[in-house]
Amino acid sequence: MQVFQTAKDAALAMRPDVPVYCFRPGVLREDIRRFREAFPGQTAYAVKTNGEPMVLQTLADAGVDVFDVASPGEFEAVRAVAPKAEMLYMHPIKAQSDIRLALETYGIRTMSLDHEDEVAKILRIVRALDLDPAGITVFIRLQTKGHAAYELSKKFGAAPAHAVELLQRCHRIGFKVGLCFHVGSQIEDPETYERALASCDWVRNRADVPLAGLDVGGGFPAEYGYDPRRKKPDMPGMGQIMSRLRSDIEEWGFGDIPLVAEPGRVVVARCFSLIVRVLLRKGRRLYINDGIWASLSDSWTGKITLPARFIPDPARVARRGDASSIVPFRVCGATCDSVDILSRPFWLPETVDTGDWIEIGHIGAYSLSLRTRFNGFYPDTFVEVETPFDEGDAAEGFASLETMAD
Ligand SMILES: *Cc1c(COP(=O)(O)O)cnc(C)c1O
Repeated sequence: MQVFQTAKDAALAMRPDVPVYCFRPGVLREDIRRFREAFPGQTAYAVKTNGEPMVLQTLADAGVDVFDVASPGEFEAVRAVAPKAEMLYMHPIKAQSDIRLALETYGIRTMSLDHEDEVAKILRIVRALDLDPAGITVFIRLQTKGHAAYELSKKFGAAPAHAVELLQRCHRIGFKVGLCFHVGSQIEDPETYERALASCDWVRNRADVPLAGLDVGGGFPAEYGYDPRRKKPDMPGMGQIMSRLRSDIEEWGFGDIPLVAEPGRVVVARCFSLIVRVLLRKGRRLYINDGIWASLSDSWTGKITLPARFIPDPARVARRGDASSIVPFRVCGATCDSVDILSRPFWLPETVDTGDWIEIGHIGAYSLSLRTRFNGFYPDTFVEVETPFDEGDAAEGFASLETMAD
């Protein structure tokens, strides 16, 4: 991979017409180190957030030896870079053949579930393979109610009374049992984990079986940008969330059982930026070479504000407008699909024009992993960049925030 000091250096050297991902392995090492130091248990990186081999390899080299996986594709990706790493198969609803593959071929011994029919599926394969249930840890996934930018808690999870029943059932079979939850991604309220822990406490007291572990899932917030014309939003930082979580864990009496966290977004958000090119400017519209079917589907929801840096093409001699005036542009994606228009504008210098580049920061989470081949576009060009996005020149603008009138 080519290495550049900054994304601007990369853009001016390569003059790329395709989107370019700028990977910052140093930032990734820093962010995973910070999380592992702050969390008082096992850190299992959630592979779905960004499963690129370069990411998994960097994490494995940095000492990550547990991964949260959900599919055969993810088992394989982890095994390829970290043959000895432990995998936690934390998808509560699994295909029968995938359960078999996990147990038989990948030696996975930790799974989650939220229904008795899933217990039956797992047990059938455990018996067929003649495995001892005592060698397998089953986490019962608990329903939670939280406030996160991405509410994922509605889809999975057993209600507390149901979870009690599942814990007891799995314990009777001879599995080791634990409790897990996942509050959704990018949580906005530090009380979210406490509510989930209170629920776990209720379940534990009624189930009255020994717990082999508590898995607090992911959801830890990453740092993004904000609209500079407004008051900085009062978002709790990672440090604050973590110290609150640690004291909640103690307070609810979970301090003495093995803990697991499954962070995704907070680990990888900062370690990638994306260089996109303006293919055409039409008034206040920019047509760029990426979009919602490629790297920008996560920001498309408009819940996240990404910092954006303008990289003017030095080859353009004539420019209109005032470079210090930051104005909103509607952004249209690369595909021919008419829904491929970002729901929020990019705020950029008025002078931006056809042929210029824009570096969008902090896009490491849920961007590369969600890109599609729709319309034949598939961004897959990578460079390595040494300077962290936030340490470069100040970002002039930001991507994806306020609704814009047509
Ligand atoms: C997606 C997911 C994660 C990671 O969530 P982040 O918000 O990216 O930290 C962790 N655990 C489970 C079960 C998930 O589905």
